[in-house]
Amino acid sequence: MESRFSSLFIYDKEKTEFLKKLRIIKQNLIHVQGLPKYLVNVNILKSRKYFGQYGTIKNIIISKKINQENNKEVYSVYITYKNNIEAACAILCVDSLLIFGKIIRAFFGTTKYCNYFLNNKTCPNLKKCMYILTSIIFNLNERFIIGNIFNRNFYFILSLKL
Ligand SMILES: [Zn+2]
Repeated sequence: MESRFSSLFIYDKEKTEFLKKLRIIKQNLIHVQGLPKYLVNVNILKSRKYFGQYGTIKNIIISKKINQENNKEVYSVYITYKNNIEAACAILCVDSLLIFGKIIRAFFGTTKYCNYFLNNKTCPNLKKCMYILTSIIFNLNERFIIGNIFNRNFYFILSLKL
């Protein structure tokens, strides 16, 4: 099948391997870890008492994993704000907060290239695919390869760019 974007993408094994590893920061998306279970609810999270106070929330995705060591549920929450400043504010306010003895971590969410695209195939989920489907990625300010995303200085560098 002919890829819709094949004309934009020149297949090159080395380049493809590099792009597979690339994570691009979405500056309006935040990823929060360590929230207690009672807060992990879309309506509570988007309320003005919690993440709604930092700006307009466009979308919230909750993912649950089981920690193999202690069999406890671990939640990751992904919140998309209307703009980058709102997301940066939320990160700066929430990251490192202590709730019931647990430290909340908040950092920018990332996206990556769609695997179908990288394999020169048409993504079956073309309209709703959350990954990048073109060889032109955003603009220079938004292109980042992640080193240590837990490095707090990193947020400040990004915030200064806003
Ligand atoms: Zn896709």
